[in-house]
Formats: sequence, structure tokens, C-alpha cells
Amino acid sequence: MAYIGGQDKPTDADAGPGCPFCRIPALSDEDGLVVARGETAYVVMNLYPYNSGHVLVCPYRHVADYTDLTDAEVAEVAALTRTAMRVLRAVSGPHGFNLGMNQGDVAGAGIAAHLHQHVVPRWGGDSNFLPIVGRSRALPELLGDTRARLAAAWPGAGTGGTGADVDAKG
Ligand SMILES: [Zn+2]
Repeated sequence: MAYIGGQDKPTDADAGPGCPFCRIPALSDEDGLVVARGETAYVVMNLYPYNSGHVLVCPYRHVADYTDLTDAEVAEVAALTRTAMRVLRAVSGPHGFNLGMNQGDVAGAGIAAHLHQHVVPRWGGDSNFLPIVGRSRALPELLGDTRARLAAAWPGAGTGGTGADVDAKG
């Protein structure tokens, strides 16, 4: 599942199994690296993170353009982005964030056909960070472990709401 890079890049016609952001919600949180699930959108670890804790907020719907989102989707993508920032601050204490969406191939979107908002935590000493279209780099921490920590810290985790079924491994 390469989110970034030319191979297997879905087109507008590839909603469903051909699109990783359509496929992920059907997986378990662990297998899909899902951090939290909302009504219209969800939060997932980026398989090719630019920094530790890099998550993506995606609508469930296969929509490419921000202007095509419904009011409910706009509101929930924003709310999940805000919560992701709070959770990341609580878990890993970043000094800042890069937030944003790349709209279209020309803007550097890896999966241009399915909108996704990047939430990238930043630390004062982290490596050079050229625009969010940059390439990924190796990370010391396993994505699955990071997912579990973020999911456990997500509001509602373990209460039967969003983020339930977190089995506190580690
Ligand atoms: Zn999709």
C-alpha cells in the first residue's frame, strides 16, 4: 500500500478497493493503522510519515476536492484535526505542527483522488522540513506502536465511543 509514489495511484474512477483511503476503514484499527473513527471522516497513520506521529484525516467518501465536501464533512475533518493536535501534544509534546491538504497531482498529493488532510507534528530539532510534498524518511518508532498510543489517548478511548476497542498493548 504505497500512499506516495506513482504506482497504483487511484483515479477518480477507482473509488472502493482500488483506493487505500476507501479500503482502510473496512480493516481493523490495528491492521489499518486507524487512530480514530468519526461519523463522516477518520484519522489514520501515514504509512510514509514525514515525522513521527504524522496522521491523515480523511473523509470516508471518495472525494478529491475540498469544495466537494459536505458541510458535515468539513466540520468533522476540522474537528478531527483539532483533536489530533491535542492528542499529539499530550502524547509526544511537539513544538508545532504543519497542517494542510495538497489538492491535485500538481500540488504534490500522493493520492490526489481521495482528499486527506496532513497533521504533522514538529519539534525544534527535527530535520529539515521542506514543503509537505517532501519525501518520507526512516523513523525509529514503529507505526503500530504510535497508533496504539494515539488511539489510547484519543478522547472517548475505552468508553465505547470513538477509539474503543483499543487494547492497551504497550
Ligand atoms: Zn477513496
